[in-house]
Amino acid sequence: MPFHSPHPKLNIPKCNLLSYVFADGRAKEESPLWMDAANPSNSLSMSEMHLLVKRFALGLDDMAVPIGSAVMIFSPNHIYVPMVYLATAGSKRAFTGANPVYTVSEVSYQMKIVDAAVVLIHPTLLDTGLKAAKEAGIPMSSIFSFSDEPKKSIQGIRDWREILSPAIEADDWRWDPLKGEAAEQTVACINFSSGTTGLPKGVCISHANLIANASQTIHIKFDQTGRSEKDPGSETWLAFLPLYHAYSQLWTINIACRLRYKVYVMQKFVFEDFLRYVQDYKVDAIQAVPPILIMLTKRPEVKKYDISSLKHILVGAAPTSPELQRKVTQKFKLKVGQGWGMTETTCAGIMVPFAEEDDGSGTIGVLLPNTDAKLVDDEGNEITVEGERGELCVRGPQMLMGYWKNETATKESKEPDGFFHSGDVAIWRRDKLGRQRLWIVDRKKELIKVKGLQVAPAELEAVLLESPDVADAAVVGIRFEEDGEEWPRGYVVLQDDKKGQVTEEDVQKFVAGKVAKHKWLEGGVKFVDEVPKLPSGKIMRKVMKDTAKNDAEEM
Ligand code: AMP
Repeated sequence: MPFHSPHPKLNIPKCNLLSYVFADGRAKEESPLWMDAANPSNSLSMSEMHLLVKRFALGLDDMAVPIGSAVMIFSPNHIYVPMVYLATAGSKRAFTGANPVYTVSEVSYQMKIVDAAVVLIHPTLLDTGLKAAKEAGIPMSSIFSFSDEPKKSIQGIRDWREILSPAIEADDWRWDPLKGEAAEQTVACINFSSGTTGLPKGVCISHANLIANASQTIHIKFDQTGRSEKDPGSETWLAFLPLYHAYSQLWTINIACRLRYKVYVMQKFVFEDFLRYVQDYKVDAIQAVPPILIMLTKRPEVKKYDISSLKHILVGAAPTSPELQRKVTQKFKLKVGQGWGMTETTCAGIMVPFAEEDDGSGTIGVLLPNTDAKLVDDEGNEITVEGERGELCVRGPQMLMGYWKNETATKESKEPDGFFHSGDVAIWRRDKLGRQRLWIVDRKKELIKVKGLQVAPAELEAVLLESPDVADAAVVGIRFEEDGEEWPRGYVVLQDDKKGQVTEEDVQKFVAGKVAKHKWLEGGVKFVDEVPKLPSGKIMRKVMKDTAKNDAEEM
C-alpha cells in the first residue's frame, strides 16, 4: 500500500496562475515586491507587475505569437523575469528559461526542442544567444534584448519593451480563467531535466501543477506556526537561485506573490554580496542549495556581517549531510530544513515542516499534502519494511503533465496508477508522532548533480564522441571524500592511432570548450580499453558507478 501525506488534504484551486497570484486585491498593491538587490530603487510592485503582465501578454497577442508556443529567456536574474514568466504562462504560452552560463550549443539545443516563438536575450549574453538562435533557425524578428534598463536596439536587436502594448489598451486584456480541467491541461512552463535517463528534456508543468505545489509548500511552511496563508505576516527573501529553475520560480515568484513577501533579486550569486544583502535588507529566510551551507560554515567573510535576521534556510536540490546541517544550525542559531523535489514534481514533493527543530538525522521530511509515495525494489515490488531501501515513487497534483513533444518519455514517466519513478533511493521510518519520514540514501538514475545543477551523462558522452580522438565514452558521477561533492568523470576509449598521443587533460579541455562550467569533467578522465555495455548497446551504468567509487577510494 502506498503511504499518504500526514497532512490534511488541501482543497487546491484549479485556475489560471494569474488568478492565483493576483487574487484578493493583490493586483492593486503599490508597495515594492521585487527589488533589484544592487539598486533597490529599481523595483516593481504587484500593481506595476499586473499592468506589465497585461501589456506583455497583449503584446504577444498583437505579434500573433501562437497560443501554446514557447517564450524563452536567456538571462541572469532580474526583476522583469517574474513578469515575463507570469505574462507568458497567463496568456497560455509556455515560459522556458535557459541557464545563463550555457554555451551556444546548449542554448540552441533548448531553443530547438521548445521551438521558441520569442526569445529574450540579456545584452551581456547577446553573442552566445544570437549564435544559438542562428543555429536553431530562430528568425531575428523573434529575438529581443532583455535588459532591466531601457536600451535602444543593440546589434539590430529590438528592446523587449517594444513588445509591450500601450497601457490604455492592455487595461481591457483579460486572461482565460482556465477553470478546472483547463488548468490541468494548459502548459505554463517548460523546465529542463534529463529525468532518470538520457538527454535533457522539456518538463511540461501546468497551471494546476504550479498552484498545487505553491499551496502544498505554503502549508508545510505555516503548519504549527500559528500563521496561515490568510495571515502570513511579512517576510523578506533574497532571490539568488536562478529563475530559469523550478526551485526559484516556485518560491520567489509564485509563493512570494501569494504571500505578498518582499524579494530582493540578485543578478548573480556572489557570496560576499549575499552576506551583505542578508544583513542590510534583514532577510528572514532563504531557499538554498548545499554549497551555500558549506560556504556559510567555511568562508571567513561570514564574520564581517551580521546575518542574525536569518531564521530559516530551506535546503534542497542535492544531498545535505546531517553534520553540515547541524553546523549551520548551531553557528547561526536558525533552522535548516531539507526539502526534496524534482523538476518533474513542479519543484517540491517532500519537506521538513518549517516549525520543526532539526532532529539531526538528515531527513528530507514528510510528504507534502495531497501527495502519496511508495518505495519499490528493482522488480517493482513495494517495500513495506521500515529502513529498507527502495526507489522513491511519488504521486500528487504537482506531478508533471509530461515531456514536451516527447510521447515516449511521457508514457514511460508514470505508471498507470500515476506514480512517477524518481530514480532516487530512499528509506522510510516512523517518527515520534507516527508519521512516515523519508531519507534519501542513494541515486540509481544516471543523473549527476553539481552544486544542485543537473548534469546528464548522456549529454557529456555525446560531446566526447564529437572528438575525433574518442572512440567510445561513459560518464558517471564521482564523489571525493574531502569535499563530499559530486563531479562528472569520463571513462574514455581513445581511437587506436591516438593512444599515447592524447592526454587526459586534452580530453578535459575538449569538453570544457563545449559545455557550461558545472558540466566540466572535474572528476577527471580515465582511459580504458572498453566501456562495458549490455547486448542492447546500453552502458552498464551500475558497473561504471562502482568503478568510479573504487577510483575515488584509491585516489
Ligand atoms: P532537479 O530536477 O534539478 O530539481 O533535480 C532533482 C534531483 O535532485 C532529485 O531527483 C534528487 O536526485 C536530487 N535532490 C533534490 N533534493 C534532494 C535532497 N534533499 N536530497 C538529496 N537529493 C536531492
